[in-house]
Amino acid sequence: MMRHRSWAEPWKIKVVEPIHMTTRAERERHIREAGFNTFLIKSEDVYIDLLTDSGTNAMSDRQWAGMMMGDEAYAGSRNFYHLEKAVRDVYGYPELIPTHQGRGAENILSQILIKPGDHIPGNMYFTTTRLHQELAGGAFHDVIIDEAHDPASEHPFKGNVDLAKLDALVREVGAERVPYICVALTVNLAGGQPVSVANLRAVNEYCHARGIKVMLDATRAVENAWFVQQREPEMRDRTVAEILRLMCDLSDGATMSGKKDSLVNIGGWLGLRDPSLGERARNLVVVYEGLHTYGGLAGRDLEAMAIGIRESIEEDYIRSRIGQVYYLGEQLREGGVPIVLPIGGHAVFIDAAAMLSHLPRDQFPAQALAAALYVEGGVRAMERGAVSAGRDPKTGENRFPRLELVRLTIPRRVYTQAHMDVVAESVLALYAARDRVHGLHFTYEPEYLRFFQARFEPVGSLKVLDSAVVGADHADPHFVLQTDD
Ligand SMILES: *Cc1c(COP(=O)(O)O)cnc(C)c1O
Repeated sequence: MMRHRSWAEPWKIKVVEPIHMTTRAERERHIREAGFNTFLIKSEDVYIDLLTDSGTNAMSDRQWAGMMMGDEAYAGSRNFYHLEKAVRDVYGYPELIPTHQGRGAENILSQILIKPGDHIPGNMYFTTTRLHQELAGGAFHDVIIDEAHDPASEHPFKGNVDLAKLDALVREVGAERVPYICVALTVNLAGGQPVSVANLRAVNEYCHARGIKVMLDATRAVENAWFVQQREPEMRDRTVAEILRLMCDLSDGATMSGKKDSLVNIGGWLGLRDPSLGERARNLVVVYEGLHTYGGLAGRDLEAMAIGIRESIEEDYIRSRIGQVYYLGEQLREGGVPIVLPIGGHAVFIDAAAMLSHLPRDQFPAQALAAALYVEGGVRAMERGAVSAGRDPKTGENRFPRLELVRLTIPRRVYTQAHMDVVAESVLALYAARDRVHGLHFTYEPEYLRFFQARFEPVGSLKVLDSAVVGADHADPHFVLQTDD
């Protein structure tokens, strides 16, 4: 009797890019040369690359065909009008300002809305978003619900805004010092956790009654819409496209990194409702990005994003995308690895503070775990903990967020379930050897967004992972035919 039917990726492969496994000795050398920072490893030395889902998407044959239709005119490229129409149709924002990627839009939004001394609430910080708010003279305030900071809480909408925290901030500083709230759909640093429509509705009502704008970080809003369809009972019968539109309708605008949801390798946009704000944004985009009809992108990039936006809301696609993340997460959960629950939309987040409980927080357990995972299996992941959180701009002290995570981020349409099995095996092997992982300390610390270029060394050891551990050299169990012994 069949328990359940298998599902498979809703695409077949037309072009392949070979990848290869390295030996453990090679990986030990590569991670040392990279200063124990996975951002500094060469891509060709990585076997399975789960650093990020940003710009790592595989494009469809239709998108590649669209690339050939690039209209590279300096002004008024036809691809801009295609993108404008796609954003209007799918997200519903009439004013579209293209940017080279998400942070270009964040820069412009921060500059047109934030005055020095302003306060910007948000459902957990994001690195580039908060930095642009601070560079514009604003102060970020986290108003996400408490459950978001608890890796074990199974709240279905851990991305929700806590209205009481928002109200406390607004009462303290005054609504006139709060130009907007930034609501991220889904919340990346909370583990890819969604926001409910009901919560967004409440935020919208609260803010609009006080003259505060609601701006979305729509980077993964399609993935958010899928969770809403699965988890919010009154939304069950709606399509992902309808839910996405409904959520955007509850906002005044959005910044977007097309490198995530929109299935492209580069691109972003700022979408707005108010034409006068659109005017101010267009005045600035020419300073930082390029003319308002290309925003730092080639015509072909605009076209690929316009097509990717429409593909991203196909139900088959989004189900398999999040299903693949779930497939990996379930294997880790069943193996006892502490992960953030519920499993999020774009990544599986390992609770590094729990897994490496022998390491103090100032030895950066998540950074150490990401480095050790590369040594163990050639899998590249990313730290999302104290290194990413940086230092407090006022006190200069390290920020120690409650979540100290390693993110296994799944690129869209790139890897198969077999790749996910290999990743799960590597993490489980490392879990068995977790007490052999050493902590790290800085040898070089950049001033801004330090996680990108920082360098480290193991504390009291030459290696981040004692090699005596897992037994066999790991170069090959996947290639050797296994015999049952
Ligand atoms: C990636 C990301 C951004 C910034 O976008 P870029 O395209 O990398 O500049 C902003 N917000 C969130 C939630 C992101 O994940």
